[in-house]
Amino acid sequence: MRILYVEDEKFLADAVKHNLEKNDFVVDHAADGEEGLNMAISGIYDCIVLDIMLPKLSGIEILERVRERKIETPVIMLSALSEVEDKVRGLNCGADDYLAKPFKTVELIARINALMRRPAAVKDEKYQYSDLTFDAKEKTLNGEALTAKEAGIIGELIKTPGKLVQKEFLLSKVWGGEAYGEDNYIEVYMSRLRKTMRKIGTKVQIKTSRGLGYKLIEA
Ligand code: CA
Repeated sequence: MRILYVEDEKFLADAVKHNLEKNDFVVDHAADGEEGLNMAISGIYDCIVLDIMLPKLSGIEILERVRERKIETPVIMLSALSEVEDKVRGLNCGADDYLAKPFKTVELIARINALMRRPAAVKDEKYQYSDLTFDAKEKTLNGEALTAKEAGIIGELIKTPGKLVQKEFLLSKVWGGEAYGEDNYIEVYMSRLRKTMRKIGTKVQIKTSRGLGYKLIEA
């Protein structure tokens, strides 16, 4: 598995790179935003670990430019500022996960592995409901590219349209064993999915049952 790691703090970067390599990851390190962007848009990486505060270009700017180019490599954002707005901003720009500094490498590895894990049941399959087609292999909804987590969520919802899918079930399916503390962000992914669905112009909506879960309905 080839990881791009964009981090300007040399001491931290060396330590994390060393630990990831000990765990059999191939790690390419970029020390500033420009270098990071150039490497990220090569599209060769399985996962990008992206610090937010970087010289030249911020992690958020890199992420925006990567997603503009329709590169859907899973991205984990890192930030020393554990502010909610930073997390939400990163997730809104198309990040798949967020890790606050300081973190342990084992935690980073768990997050990377969770993103790499594809739900076996939805591999290589297409799902249809009403005027929506979800391609689980390509991770597209009516041709619109989704991030790994958006695809995981819609993949679960579209299997049982009209039926409530519990929030806990979605968290365990999509976030795997790393669901702790993520509850607050599932709404961010839902609002991104809804935005994509409005763009598509589908009749289908994601309905929220507060505190319970979500379902797809035809409006
Ligand atoms: Ca930094």
